[in-house]
Amino acid sequence: MISLYDSRQRAARPFEPIEAGRVSMYVCGPTVYDVPHSGHARTALTFDMIRRYLQWRGYEVTFVSNITDIDDKIIARAAETGTTEPELAIRYKQAYVDQMNRFGIIAPTHQPHATQYINQMLDMIAHLIERGAAYVIEGKGVYFSVAAHERYGDLIGRTAEELREGAGARVEVDEDKADPLDFALWKAAKPKEPVWNSPWGPGRPGWHIECVAMATHLLGKQFDIHGGGDDLAFPHHQNEIAEAEGAGLPFARYWIHGAMLNVNGQKMAKSLGNFTTLSSLLDTCNPQVLRLLMLQTHYRTVMELSDDSLATASGAMDRLRSYHRRSLAMGLEPPTLPVTTNQTTPSNLEPTAPTTSNNPNTNPSNMDADALASFSEAMDADFATPAALAVIFDLVRAGNAALDAQQTTPAARMFATTHHLCAALGLNPGDQSSTAANLSSHFPQEASAQDDTALRIDKMVAQRNQARAAKDFATADNIRNQLATEGIVLEDGPNGTSWRRV
Ligand SMILES: [Zn+2]
Repeated sequence: MISLYDSRQRAARPFEPIEAGRVSMYVCGPTVYDVPHSGHARTALTFDMIRRYLQWRGYEVTFVSNITDIDDKIIARAAETGTTEPELAIRYKQAYVDQMNRFGIIAPTHQPHATQYINQMLDMIAHLIERGAAYVIEGKGVYFSVAAHERYGDLIGRTAEELREGAGARVEVDEDKADPLDFALWKAAKPKEPVWNSPWGPGRPGWHIECVAMATHLLGKQFDIHGGGDDLAFPHHQNEIAEAEGAGLPFARYWIHGAMLNVNGQKMAKSLGNFTTLSSLLDTCNPQVLRLLMLQTHYRTVMELSDDSLATASGAMDRLRSYHRRSLAMGLEPPTLPVTTNQTTPSNLEPTAPTTSNNPNTNPSNMDADALASFSEAMDADFATPAALAVIFDLVRAGNAALDAQQTTPAARMFATTHHLCAALGLNPGDQSSTAANLSSHFPQEASAQDDTALRIDKMVAQRNQARAAKDFATADNIRNQLATEGIVLEDGPNGTSWRRV
């Protein structure tokens, strides 16, 4: 039984989905006014990890993550750059999708755009007014009445009264509102802004109503998990709850919030100059290394992103890859895995197989039963990825020892198990995105020499990418030329740099 920490209940709870074998999830997606940064990557990775694990456990997962394509920031950025809001939103949505693909995040089952759900939002606002949970301010729009929601504040463990005392810091103060905590459901049109017609005059929706309309339209009045970064808990998620419950919808059964990240010991912020775009991060760091680094910290703990932490993760990834190559060189075959993925996934990390609730993943016959049990135990306990990784690295140690001792049967079992558990986390030690496609065919007899050569070339490729990112093209060209003299050619593609022998 999976136990997960429900932010709203402030406790770990046994996970029991509404419908046996199926999970419905809604995760707040980006507001597309700029390129994605490393904080987006962490939130996406957290929910990708949870989704993959639920699938690995045999659940069929419907994963909805929206695109907020109308918002104050989008309007401001479109005006600054002399473009239209839809053009700006399309451009940055594409940048988000591209970078998430590059990072190996499985695409959502549905990725609704807020502006496609205006009618559903209008219906919901009308319903809230009817139920006395919302009111019109002439010339300004429609506001939600927080007084109508008894439990307001419970998501962050505060009362409405406590939040009112702090009002001004995080809520919009406006003397026309009945209560400082009241918030806009519909914003009346301002000059030069995009508008939609409504019974309360032309305008545009507030942010929170967008997610409620999209989530309930696609997943139903009640669904299993609502997730997002913990920076969204208040006011966004609290207001989503108020709206949904105000409209009489049961809404999400579990709330999951992922922690943010620090860059070099500080909270990431543009003003601090430590703002890392995901694109620049992935230019210098293999996506699998970044995934491994993120999995090394529990999703509810703030993680450190620094050169040191990346170097450590890179070393760990090298150990996994080296073990993989060594096993192949010894004639072991990676298993064909019954791992489940969404059919719409653009990821090529895993084989696609029909999802089944009669799941063979937790107990395949040719694998190490103790390791599988320890891994599931760790992941069942609120997705404890650091403990799950420890199981994998223990297996790698034991697998290497079995290879040293030429014990083929246990070596094969450990190799298969390692591969299987890595796949559950979206890690693929056989992923050769910055190494050769199949080294064993080049060096069938020379396992350790092969490892050393591959690692040395991987490092040179990484140095070249760093040089390129720093616009030091002379160094980058030197490295490329040096490798060329060894018969190694580099290919720069959308998934990073790969190399091969000619
Ligand atoms: Zn949302």
